[in-house]
Amino acid sequence: MSDQKSWGIVGGGILGMTLAMRLKQAGHQVAIFESSEKTGGLASSWNMNGIVWDRFYHVILMSDFHTRKILKEIGLEKELRWVETKTGFFSEGKLHSMSNLIEFFKFPPINLIDKFRLGLTIFVASKIKNWERLENMLVADWLTRWSGRRVFEKIWLPLLKAKLGDNYKSTSAAFIWTTIQRMYAARKSGLKKEMFGYVAGGYEKINSQFASHLAVSGVEINYNSTVRSVKKTVVGKLEVTLENNSTQLFDHIISTLSSRQSVNMVEELTEEEKQLHTAIRYLGVICPSIILKHSISPYYVTNITDNWPPFTGIIEMTALIDKNEANGNHLIYLPKYINPDDPLFELDDSELRKIFLGALFKMYPSITDADIIFWGVSKARVVFAIPSLNYSKNLPGIYTSLDNYYIINSAQILNGTLNVNETIQVAESKIKIILDEI
Ligand SMILES: Cc1cc2nc3c(=O)[nH]c(=O)nc-3n(C[C@H](O)[C@H](O)[C@H](O)COP(=O)(O)OP(=O)(O)OC[C@H]3O[C@@H](n4cnc5c(N)ncnc54)[C@H](O)[C@@H]3O)c2cc1C
Repeated sequence: MSDQKSWGIVGGGILGMTLAMRLKQAGHQVAIFESSEKTGGLASSWNMNGIVWDRFYHVILMSDFHTRKILKEIGLEKELRWVETKTGFFSEGKLHSMSNLIEFFKFPPINLIDKFRLGLTIFVASKIKNWERLENMLVADWLTRWSGRRVFEKIWLPLLKAKLGDNYKSTSAAFIWTTIQRMYAARKSGLKKEMFGYVAGGYEKINSQFASHLAVSGVEINYNSTVRSVKKTVVGKLEVTLENNSTQLFDHIISTLSSRQSVNMVEELTEEEKQLHTAIRYLGVICPSIILKHSISPYYVTNITDNWPPFTGIIEMTALIDKNEANGNHLIYLPKYINPDDPLFELDDSELRKIFLGALFKMYPSITDADIIFWGVSKARVVFAIPSLNYSKNLPGIYTSLDNYYIINSAQILNGTLNVNETIQVAESKIKIILDEI
């Protein structure tokens, strides 16, 4: 074990909490600074008319071994529930089930040859090991090559646009590889059963249990503590300054915030490294949560290939979680992934309600305003780094020119999509590198 050092961690999301746990276990003194009144960040929860569940939908896959390991360590493994879920497609104005091979072959929007090419593309992607090779190819070119133009335009293009907007044009093929790899892992074998998991009580339970586990082990968690800046002091330590002007000294500081935030809070960093970090482009999300009296479908995910609905897809959370978690009601999310400067971010909740619910009622004419028990919108301008061409080659490392100030954030997920499992893996692998060196 290395000598005991003091560590400050900026951000009390899953990444920050994982770093804190590993540093504490390695015998260090650790303090987390979290701007909100609770931990969890993007994975945090909120209260929807008495129903407490995630602000943004979350699912755990059987293959999420890093997440499952943390759940075990904080004593929540027995609260994991596994459920066989179904997937739907809203295509050409109709809802289709796409949950098994038979339904795949019945799927009307594309013909049998196209289905073969679509299946082949998914199969090829699931078999590729060398993802780095895919980083210098555009996703649109790679998908067109394997699936053909018709399938690309009818299936892939709407899905890509839904997840990336026009950014799909500069996104590498590694994006679709990671997406397919993750979805493939969710199924027991091939296109068979899809098993998804959640923890009873949702991320509210996970975050509060994680935070109390850390507190009991001696990690200091500072809530409502927004970090404004980090700088070197004359005594060689690093000083954190909060929005309220209070300061604290540490031997090491790790920022888990987005790349731009992480460099902007440290004046001393070089222009060159600031540029490298700020060049990383992120996507944001607008995610209405709706509590309904009725279920709208049997599908956990409904993918949308028609281009008129304003949302990316529909997540019917209560197709996965026990109805009692939502007091017998039905919880759905209508996410839309957009650029951080998209004008949609400027609209207020009632304007968004008109746009999003208007489209939902058009898709499901049996649902009306009278069925809505709760409407609320969660927004985040900076969510995930867009995997542009040669992303990993242009990505700055965890070290900075300010000694003992490190940046470990979700932009360092290289061969995976943004999810808790990958986030934990980044935290675990990067902190190991630092601890091995000091
Ligand atoms: C719509 C959506 C759906 C998702 N679905 C899934 C899913 O199904 N399965 C899955 O595994 N993952 C999912 N994820 C991803 C998952 O939420 C993230 O991987 C994870 O929460 C990232 O954690 P993080 O700690 O890296 O970042 P964050 O959660 O962003 O944590 C950063 C923390 O820093 C705090 N902070 C910000 N600025 C400051 C400051 N100046 N000072 C102090 N603190 C500050 C923030 O309040 C926040 O708590 C989803 C995410 C979204 C948005």
